[in-house]
Amino acid sequence: MYLIDLRSDTLSKPTDEMLQAMIGARLGDDSYDGDPTVIELEALAADMLGKEAALLVLSGTMGNLISVLAHTTPGDEIIIDIDSHIYCAELGGLARVGGLMSHPLKSFNGSLNPTEVENAIRPIGLYQPVTRLICLENTHNRLGGLVVYPERLADLAAIAKKHNIPIHMDGARIFNAAVGTGLDVKEFTRHVDSLMFCLSKGLSCPLGSLIVGERDFIKRAKQIRQMIGGGMRQAGIIAAAGIIALKKMIPRMAEDHFNARKLAEALINIEGLHVDLNTVQTNIFNLNIERLGIDSKEFVLKLEKQGILVFPRNPTAIRIVTYHGIRESHIKQAVARFESTVRDISGL
Ligand SMILES: *Cc1c(COP(=O)(O)O)cnc(C)c1O
Repeated sequence: MYLIDLRSDTLSKPTDEMLQAMIGARLGDDSYDGDPTVIELEALAADMLGKEAALLVLSGTMGNLISVLAHTTPGDEIIIDIDSHIYCAELGGLARVGGLMSHPLKSFNGSLNPTEVENAIRPIGLYQPVTRLICLENTHNRLGGLVVYPERLADLAAIAKKHNIPIHMDGARIFNAAVGTGLDVKEFTRHVDSLMFCLSKGLSCPLGSLIVGERDFIKRAKQIRQMIGGGMRQAGIIAAAGIIALKKMIPRMAEDHFNARKLAEALINIEGLHVDLNTVQTNIFNLNIERLGIDSKEFVLKLEKQGILVFPRNPTAIRIVTYHGIRESHIKQAVARFESTVRDISGL
């Protein structure tokens, strides 16, 4: 029995075209004179996302950390979504490395409430820490790949501008937001000062993320990347795959969204499983298993025995992710395996 691995889009493998491009890439020392392929990728990314400059980094976590550090000084406070990847899944780097205080807020439908954000901004005075940055996430991973729409971003940006506070967006999957809504990615990025996105997820590259923003911001980011040991040499081998990703792999992500939708629509017909279909917007969704009456960790183990790999999201839900390599035939097979797993549990 072959495995159907629905844990994460980071499992996507580089395409043959990417591997060929990596072999043939023009290379140089990125820290000395620049690597021509990295320079090409950074220019392409900046252009596509509508920002002045871009910087290639090794991972999304590194990109977020560098961005947050480049916007702040130790002791500053940042307003951040309590369910965001930066807050929940980056080992507290913003506190340990950045010396930052967090002001976490709960989001609704993946987005912070503009009024709550404004209320969280500290007055400038003798006693208060300085509110220096607002962090958003798009698409929202923990809440199930939810899109934060440009209208909402515009409201948040207006408040940020009024108080002269920049916005950093963890846009690990910003192209999923663009493809999912049919909007140009610039419709999202124009409301934020900096953004990190991953090449290594739905875009199928072996590794790499990019930070985009104003030229001066990227200059600071580059120094911080060097400081934390992220300076690279012939990084063109990474960038070559990234160029293929940006030129060819974006529209393809619609297939991942289609497959997620198909799977969710089939799973809701299985007694004991529930998905709010309004929340299936991109390539991630949360499957509620509360009515099965077992813990999600236990359910995950039972699915594994049937050849399905997923992650528990919380005690009553699991996370399901589609990506390049998961095909429609896998979706059909996955539904059958979910059915038999649930049948075993209900003892039918
Ligand atoms: C995956 C992810 C990251 C981190 O990316 P890595 O390359 O795994 O470090 C950051 N933010 C979000 C929302 C993610 O899903």
